[in-house]
Amino acid sequence: MMNAVRERLGARLLVSYLAVIMVGGLVLLGTVWFTSPAAYERHLARLDTGAGTGESQDGASQSGAGLRRGQGGGYGGEMYASFQDTLREALGWAGLTALASAFGASLLVSRRVVRPVQELTGASGRIAAGNFEERVQETSKDEIGQLARSFNRMAARLQQAENLRRQLIGDVAHELRTPLTTIKGSVEAMIDGKLPAGPETFRLIYSEAERLNRLVDDLQELSRVEAGAYELQPRKTALPALVRAAQARFANQFHEKSVRLQVDLPEGLPEACVDGDRILQVLANLLANSLRYTPAGGQVTMRMASVGDLIQVTVADTGAGIPAEHLEHVFTRFYRVDKSRSRQAGGSGIGLTIARHLVEAHGGRIWVESRGRGQGSAFHFTVPASPA
Ligand code: ADP
Repeated sequence: MMNAVRERLGARLLVSYLAVIMVGGLVLLGTVWFTSPAAYERHLARLDTGAGTGESQDGASQSGAGLRRGQGGGYGGEMYASFQDTLREALGWAGLTALASAFGASLLVSRRVVRPVQELTGASGRIAAGNFEERVQETSKDEIGQLARSFNRMAARLQQAENLRRQLIGDVAHELRTPLTTIKGSVEAMIDGKLPAGPETFRLIYSEAERLNRLVDDLQELSRVEAGAYELQPRKTALPALVRAAQARFANQFHEKSVRLQVDLPEGLPEACVDGDRILQVLANLLANSLRYTPAGGQVTMRMASVGDLIQVTVADTGAGIPAEHLEHVFTRFYRVDKSRSRQAGGSGIGLTIARHLVEAHGGRIWVESRGRGQGSAFHFTVPASPA
């Protein structure tokens, strides 16, 4: 019995209500019981005085004095006894009725308090079982209502994380399938003697294995930046030095593809407050893309400008361009404007997602502008300037 009370919130509430009611009732009864004799005396004394002044002197005034409880077993004593009986009876009935109605009221109130808690318990059990669309009703504005609201927010976040997880697994499986199919198909064809076991075939297999390698590296990097599992160490940095470092790193590749790489640096640019390695990683991602999507004879330009307390960096190219309807999606992982072209060019579809995470971790913003297919693109990002 005690265990059942301890384990159930409804029973505990009911017992605590009843305890409060009992204490109140006992205090009421005790007070009435102990104060009523004195009150009785006082009221009779007032009656005495009324009789003494208002009535004749011939002893009729015994009406009040004769009713006194102290006067032995006479009329006064009987009167006092029946007053006590009346009081006891009235208090008994009043106590019983009050207890019954208080019991009913506390049952209703404790049910109202307990129901939303039971609903929350049920819903959390169903979420734990994998039912992520589960929500509870947000009826009241009190603490239980707030609990329901934050529970629903938590459930929505869990559902979102679960959807992302499923989508990521689907995307990764899809990305792995293409190179694996090529490798498997080539090896099978070699075994069947349909494909010569020569350098051409080995080169094809090697390039697909490289693609797999790049994908795995990018995925690892993405999971690190998405989880924030890296330490950002922003310090005063001269961005032109980073731009020059990126230019030097890509100079050969641009030269080999006959794409011009130009750097346009203004005078008196303030220093930025960034983690140099991370911003170099962003620049490298943007430059690699520009090189990938710009045909021979094209040009890529890196520019910088001071905009208020931000520094804006631009990597613009004269390459493939991006149609308007794709502009806002290119920063989503595995999103590609032209799927087969990007894969053939060796893209993993993750580079811009990583760049967006890194720029946003600095409190900046990244976006792209393009006049459309074949019209080139300009990727811009901002980072905070270092306070003077
Ligand atoms: P990928 O590895 O496929 O290049 P990204 O995340 O770097 O993946 O880019 C996503 C998509 O955005 C690319 O597949 C491509 O369609 C488009 N894109 C990125 N940079 C450029 C660019 N400079 N010119 C044209 N399209 C681009």
